[in-house]
Amino acid sequence: MIGRWRIAKATLGLVTVILLLCLVAGCRSRGDVVERRFVLVGLDGLEWSAVEPLLEEGRLPNLEALMNRGVWCRLRSLEPKRKSPVIWTTMSTGKLPDKHGISDYVDPMTKKLFTSNVRTARTFWDILGERGLTVTVIGWLVSWPAEEVNGYMVTDYFRYPPKPDRPLPENLTYPDELLAEIELLRIVDRDIPDSEVERFFDLADAMSGEEAQRLPVEKMFREMRAISEFEGQIERFKDFFAADRTFMAVAQHIIRKHPTDISVVYLRGTDSVSHMFWAAGWPDAVGVEVAETDARVFGETVERYYVYADEMLGELVAEFGDDTTIMVCSDHGFEGPRSPNERGGIKDHGPLGVFVLAGPGVRSVGEIEETSVRDITPTILELFGLPIGVDMDGVVMMDAFEDDYLSAHPVRQIPTYEISEEE
Ligand SMILES: [Zn+2]
Repeated sequence: MIGRWRIAKATLGLVTVILLLCLVAGCRSRGDVVERRFVLVGLDGLEWSAVEPLLEEGRLPNLEALMNRGVWCRLRSLEPKRKSPVIWTTMSTGKLPDKHGISDYVDPMTKKLFTSNVRTARTFWDILGERGLTVTVIGWLVSWPAEEVNGYMVTDYFRYPPKPDRPLPENLTYPDELLAEIELLRIVDRDIPDSEVERFFDLADAMSGEEAQRLPVEKMFREMRAISEFEGQIERFKDFFAADRTFMAVAQHIIRKHPTDISVVYLRGTDSVSHMFWAAGWPDAVGVEVAETDARVFGETVERYYVYADEMLGELVAEFGDDTTIMVCSDHGFEGPRSPNERGGIKDHGPLGVFVLAGPGVRSVGEIEETSVRDITPTILELFGLPIGVDMDGVVMMDAFEDDYLSAHPVRQIPTYEISEEE
């Protein structure tokens, strides 16, 4: 008896030592989480009506391969229409804005930009990180100041600071030391030579000043103005192109040097290009008068940028093995302005975004029923076999999973993941 007690005591002591060591080393239990590598690629504003013809022409081979391998659907955005930071925060928390606290770009009460420390709901990367999964989050909207994560975070301000002409703020990355590693990867518009963006425009088709002068007066003015605005438009294009290039380079650097279980990469270019050039591509559909020269030069710019986004997707997927789970999503679609007065706001955002998911345990049946941006976080939790919070506003996309997977990992619930004040 005494011998057994001694062994039990010794074991207890050992367990205590291990637990203490774990605490010191900051290691956390992975418990019964499903082991998988997971990549989420967020493409802001990606719209099905532009994607579909390109798929038919075989111009989005990387997206197509994922769609064929897994499931895809129309992803309903928030209603009424909300701005991108609000929607992406719903996607990362599974909660509506009244619960997550990010209601716009700027807080109407404080007149300050919304920042990550104002968010009142936990993100999926925080929940998964707490369970021992390592995470990388790059460029996500409203992620500044960088939060402590179980891995790496590069905030949106790394390349989209609120005051581009001023020195960059602190807390751009977590850990702080990561900044020195990636700083040189940040590029801006003037780093992009014309030759790199030529493929997006048909500059040779621009109307000449002489040609414009032969037009009736009203038309002539419109064309002359369009011609004079080229340079500025191309500079603005280069700015978001350089931002996407920056976040891609950062993603590739971290994926190669510090691989984690989960990688999240947000790219904004697909949205920016649509705000600028949607009308030039589809003037009839959006009912605006577009200068002839804009239609000639920028008529295919959105489509060509989609092709480029597909190349970026392919480059990211190529970093991982075939058994990696890949999710692609957009926060809303695009419709283009209905009248010239509506330009610039969010009236040109469409109600349905893109969702694609492929990987182990995911069905390969193509299109499934429409889901919602609210369902992203619950579905990611199910991918890792974790319960969803009853206080979340979304549900698990059941259609996306194989029956065997669901029997092995039935959807479970807990009241909440939020940490109460007392803890
Ligand atoms: Zn957006």
